[in-house]
Amino acid sequence: MTINVDAAEMRRINLATVLGVIRGKRTTSRIDISQITGLNKATVSYLVDELIQEQLVQEIGYGSSSGGRKPVLLKFNANAAYAIGIDIQITHMTTVVSNTRGEVLYRQTKPLALDGRTSLYQERLVDLILVEVAAAMKATPPSPHGLAGIGVALPGIVNFSAGTVYYLPNASVSDWNLQAALGQHFEVPVFIDNDANCGAWCEFQHRNSRVQNLVHINAGVGVGAGVIVNGQLYRGKDGLAGEFGHMTIAALGRECSCGNYGCWEEYASERSLLRYIRESGGEKPGTASEWSIVEQILYEAQHDNRAYIRAFHTLGEYLGVGIANILNGLNPEQVTIGGMLSRAATFILPEIERVLQHRAILLNKSTSLSIANANAVAIGAAEIVIDQTLFSYPKQGSFDS
Ligand SMILES: [Zn+2]
Repeated sequence: MTINVDAAEMRRINLATVLGVIRGKRTTSRIDISQITGLNKATVSYLVDELIQEQLVQEIGYGSSSGGRKPVLLKFNANAAYAIGIDIQITHMTTVVSNTRGEVLYRQTKPLALDGRTSLYQERLVDLILVEVAAAMKATPPSPHGLAGIGVALPGIVNFSAGTVYYLPNASVSDWNLQAALGQHFEVPVFIDNDANCGAWCEFQHRNSRVQNLVHINAGVGVGAGVIVNGQLYRGKDGLAGEFGHMTIAALGRECSCGNYGCWEEYASERSLLRYIRESGGEKPGTASEWSIVEQILYEAQHDNRAYIRAFHTLGEYLGVGIANILNGLNPEQVTIGGMLSRAATFILPEIERVLQHRAILLNKSTSLSIANANAVAIGAAEIVIDQTLFSYPKQGSFDS
């Protein structure tokens, strides 16, 4: 009996491995897959036929040959399934429907006017998510594997495997099992994760395979990071990894909401931007418009408001200090910056790069730095769903082939 179970398990692993290879390439062939995975040609053929039957893989004609039969080209069916991703922020929420390649076919952003101090907060947040999911489901086209699931990203401390929220800024929440609260409403799986993790996963998925280590910084009301190490999200033992917003950058610095002093977040977030404006003699912009406060400050800075430009420069400098610490600790190939403050890239990026020249050591100085996709968090939440459902087997390299 044990042998049968192992054989079935091995087949599942091999199927996922072959699918992973096909997904990772624009086109490939059975012979290529055999060479990449080390699986023999007959096994690959058998597995590919099964994936074609499941409509996960398509044959799209013939490739070139340097002699002998031309290989049949294989392509991953990006529309084999869809997933819904939701990015919950303090002021707004964004919902996307994406295919298995993270290509977005529906996107909706709504303001989120929730008072986190009321006891109704959890109920109301669940209700709002249900409304957005219902609309997204209507926009999801039919597909061979249907809706794979729903991913929800939150700007707080989340235990992905337990499905619980430990902490949300501006909300009285602790040990809240949001996965269970949402799960009872749907027949498809629900996953919840930290927003920076989702952003990191999206940015990692959309880069070439040379990038295996990536840090995504989400800079907005708070500062968080998602860390990809060797092609996997690094979550830490309790799911708390990536809370770089609370690393100390000034030992005797400002008091942070976490109770510590001198946390990075106190120097590189939206509230620090407002403080820098005050300190350089500027006035806080009014809140008459529909724009977020960062968008208003950005607009004024683009129109030569010197106090606002100086504030962005100071913010960029402090973002740079923290990023240098992260680079020196993790040595990734790529750093991406997302969140509301990343919209001020023209003001903050040159400052970050300048600081890295001083504070990052050796080759870390030349680490590739870029601004993330504006919807990276929502797309990443959907892509985590795809990964946890369609590709939930050990990846290539994690077993002996
Ligand atoms: Zn802190």
